[in-house]
Amino acid sequence: MAKKKSLKGLGARYGIKIRKEYTKVHFKLKAGRACPECGSRRFGRAAVGIWACGKCGLKVAGTAYDVKV
Ligand SMILES: [Zn+2]
Repeated sequence: MAKKKSLKGLGARYGIKIRKEYTKVHFKLKAGRACPECGSRRFGRAAVGIWACGKCGLKVAGTAYDVKV
């Protein structure tokens, strides 16, 4: 097995540049965020473009991979 620096999921497809970009976006998506309303760390993406807090239920519109660009 080759050494792996990037994520699984895309395998050897699409070329290195796109996989690097995918990895970057993935970690941005999974990064911990604090809710702007209550400060809870349970804030995350509920659906594409919708960010919600698991504690206070706040929902905000954002982009697909981040709250704000
Ligand atoms: Zn909250």
